[in-house]
Amino acid sequence: LLNLMPSSMGSVAENEPMCSTSQSTMESDCSANLHQAYTESSNEYIRAYLKAKNDYGNYSCSGYKCYLDVIKQDLKPFSQGIDKKMIELTIPKGVKYIIMDGRVYREKDCLFPSRCEGVDYFLNSIKEHIPNTQLVINFHDWPQVNKHFNQLLPVFSFSKTDEFFDIMYPAWSFWKGGPALSLYPKGIGRWDEFYEKLVQKSKIWTWNKKKNLGFFIGSRTSSERDHLILLSRGHPELVEAKYTKNQAWKSIKDTLNEPPSKEVPLEEHCHYKYLFNFRGVAASFRFKFLFLCKSVVVNVGNEWDEFFYRGLKPWYHYIPMNKDDSQEQYKSLLLFLIQEDEIAQEIANRGFDFIFNNLKMQDVKDYWKELLVQYTKLLKFKPKLDKDLVDVTTP
Ligand code: UDP
Repeated sequence: LLNLMPSSMGSVAENEPMCSTSQSTMESDCSANLHQAYTESSNEYIRAYLKAKNDYGNYSCSGYKCYLDVIKQDLKPFSQGIDKKMIELTIPKGVKYIIMDGRVYREKDCLFPSRCEGVDYFLNSIKEHIPNTQLVINFHDWPQVNKHFNQLLPVFSFSKTDEFFDIMYPAWSFWKGGPALSLYPKGIGRWDEFYEKLVQKSKIWTWNKKKNLGFFIGSRTSSERDHLILLSRGHPELVEAKYTKNQAWKSIKDTLNEPPSKEVPLEEHCHYKYLFNFRGVAASFRFKFLFLCKSVVVNVGNEWDEFFYRGLKPWYHYIPMNKDDSQEQYKSLLLFLIQEDEIAQEIANRGFDFIFNNLKMQDVKDYWKELLVQYTKLLKFKPKLDKDLVDVTTP
C-alpha cells in the first residue's frame, strides 16, 4: 500500500498525520502546521483511496457485463427453477407481463401508467431476443419479498437491500415515469437525453470552474439526509444542501423546519465539485446523473441498490459514507476533499468515465435482455396468454 503513495508522503505510520498530496512538489513546505491540519480521518481517507487504487487499478469491464454478477446473485435463490404455482403467488405483488413470439403483453391495470410505459419501452426494445417468458414487475418504490417474512417469490423490483429476494431490473425512469418536479413536470426520464446534456455541461463546468462546495438538493424522502442539511445551515462555506417540496409536503416540518428551497435542475449540479447522493424511499434516481457532471460523487449509505451500483467501486469511482455518519464526519470529509483537490478530481474523472462508458442507454437495454434470458431459463412451464392481458407491442 505504501508503495502507491505519492513520493512526498514518505512512509506513514498508523494514525500519524501526513502531508497533502496537493503539496507533493513542495516536500520541504510540509510543515508542522500542515501536519496538524490533518486529522486521523484524513489518514483513513488516504489509506482507503490508496487501497482502492491497489484493489481496482486493473478493474476493467464493458457495458452491461459490468453488472453480470448482479444477475447471477439475484437469480441464485431460484436455481431450483420457477414453477407455475410460484408465479401465481407472485402475481398480486406486481403487474404481470408476457413476452410471446416477439410481442409484449401486460395486465391492463397499471397503478402508475407512466412507470408501466417506461418498462413497456424496454421490453419492446428487446422483445425479439427474448424466448417466450412470463414475469411480474413491481412498480412501487419499495421491494416486495423480504427474506425474513416471505417465501421465495420471483418479483422484479428496481431497487432493494440485501434483506430482499426481489430481482433488480433497470428502472422505468431510464425512459419515463421518474419523479415529477416543477422543473420536470412530466417526470424525470429519458436517460439518453440527460446523458447528452450533462456530458455537455461537464465540458463547460470543468473542474477548476466548479465551486469548492458540497451540494445536495432534494426532498426529505429519508431523514438520513438531515445531517448534511444541518451542516449546510451551520457551514454554508462548506456545503449547500437544501430540502425542496415533494408531493407529500404538508408543512415546514417536512423540510426540517425551514421553508422549502427552489428546485435546481440536474445540469446546475455540475457547478459544484462534491455532489451528495442519499437513499430516498428506496435508491434515489439521482445517483447516476451526478457522475456525468464530472464532479466527485459522495454516496451516503450502501444499503439500497440499483442494478448498476455494484459496478462502481468505493474510493475509486465515488466516495462512500455511512448513513449514520455525524455532521463532524461530513465536515472532515469535505475539508479533506477541498485540501486534496487532485484526489477528488481523480475520483470524479473515474466515476464519470465509468458511467459514460458503461451505463449508456444500450447498456441498460442489454442488461434487461441478459436478465430476461437468464430468468427464462429458470421457468419450468410454458407461458400462456390469457384474456386479461393487453398487447402493448410497439414497432
Ligand atoms: N431533483 C432535482 N432538483 C431538485 C430536486 C430534486 O433535479 O431541486 C431530482 C433529484 O436528483 C432526484 C429526483 O429529482 O433524481 C427526486 O428527488 P427527491 O430528493 O425528491 O427524491 P429521491 O427520489 O431522491 O428520494
